[in-house]
Amino acid sequence: TPVTIIITVIGVIAIVALVTVAVLQNRPFPQKYKYGIVLDAGSSHTALYIYEWPAEKDNNTGRVEQTHSCKILVENALAFCPGISSYASAPSKAGQSLTECMQEAVQRVPEKRRGETPLYLGATAGMRLLNMENSAASDSVFQSVKKALQMFPFSYQGARILSGQEEGAFGWVTVNYLDDRLKQGLETTGALDLGGASTQISFVSDNYNGSESPSNSVTFRLYGNDYNLYTHSFLCYGKDQALRMTLAHQSQAGPGTVLDPCFHPGYAEIKNYSVLYDSPCVSDRKPQGAPATFNHTGNGNFLECQKTIKNIFNFTDCKYSRCSFNGVFQPLLQGPFGAFSAYYFVMNFLNLTDTSIPLDDVKEKLKRYCATPWNQIRQRHPNIKLKYLAEYCFSGTYILTLLTEGYNFTSESYSDIKFIEKIKGSDAGWTLGYMLNLTNMIPAEAPDSPPLPHA
Ligand code: AMP
Repeated sequence: TPVTIIITVIGVIAIVALVTVAVLQNRPFPQKYKYGIVLDAGSSHTALYIYEWPAEKDNNTGRVEQTHSCKILVENALAFCPGISSYASAPSKAGQSLTECMQEAVQRVPEKRRGETPLYLGATAGMRLLNMENSAASDSVFQSVKKALQMFPFSYQGARILSGQEEGAFGWVTVNYLDDRLKQGLETTGALDLGGASTQISFVSDNYNGSESPSNSVTFRLYGNDYNLYTHSFLCYGKDQALRMTLAHQSQAGPGTVLDPCFHPGYAEIKNYSVLYDSPCVSDRKPQGAPATFNHTGNGNFLECQKTIKNIFNFTDCKYSRCSFNGVFQPLLQGPFGAFSAYYFVMNFLNLTDTSIPLDDVKEKLKRYCATPWNQIRQRHPNIKLKYLAEYCFSGTYILTLLTEGYNFTSESYSDIKFIEKIKGSDAGWTLGYMLNLTNMIPAEAPDSPPLPHA
């Protein structure tokens, strides 16, 4: 009857109203966040990260998390813009290149927080190399970047080149902060970072106090615990510069053709000597009177590739009790380790992030991958950037060589490594650790009293 319908409708409306009131009453007050922005000016790309944390930190229980990242893009949606160091000949464009990601950041940070949001730019090995090669060009790139960043409504805190130690140590802080290992004083995780121009290794070793090689030592007091960190950054041993050094070594055998075991059979490209040797990592080895180009061809042989790569390491000179390579001190490895950045990109592509697979099996898989003809590889992966695709055999072989021959990981300790991209939604890398340090967000001492309940 109409009366029943009316009663039912009124009943439904009443229930909806009651539920709405209940939900609204239980809803927490809108969470107020604070923000920080770090730009990572790497050798091959620039990325912007936005971090946020609760504004009313519950006595340090507030966690800092990455809420957004932005890769500086070029016209082609699949390709990434080169790093700021590649703007050496047109420095004004370096600043301009950051505009889009910066505009995105403006949208992402609430207006009333913008003015107090610290903004940092840290450049790594690409700029270290440019600074070595041409410090005037490096200065102009920084001027351009600074000018551009100051135009935005954030609290600009400066743009600078990080030292290798800082890059290594802040990567370690990031990984251990995100894993909640620092506050709880747990055993820490070592950090392995592979960039395009340099690579870092950082870990705490119980039987290392820093005295044998002070330049490899960084000490931290965090949440009431002291950490003696071993860290080293190998300039030129990032995967792009390592490829350059390996290719330069092979091209010295004679002009004309390089038959490269680190590239797939059927791969053939004409390359310029001047482009290959345009880096301080190889410039001293440029052959005299070489022709302008050489034919870079592949024959896909993992074992030969590994042999070739070994030529870029010096294993003989060591004035310390033990070394990794190139006469650099390294204490006994102490795991676990997180390996990120290009370690992850490459091993993930190769389906080799599972380190419980015995190392010999990993090598066997890579051997088969390297021996696969180039046209088959291209057909299987039509959407992967060709430059990356052509280099995965080299990159995978380089990673295994660096880890086992360089850092002395064994078949047993290989499984102590975890290839990671993110931890709890935040990218592993130096940026978060850098910001936490500069904003004094990790206290040296543990809070005396337990956190107060949130009023
Ligand atoms: P950087 O720019 O110094 O941080 O270095 C990052 C490195 O990772 C460079 O060697 C890049 O070429 C490389 N890289 C980034 N994305 C990928 C990917 N999807 N596959 C392979 N290598 C990558």
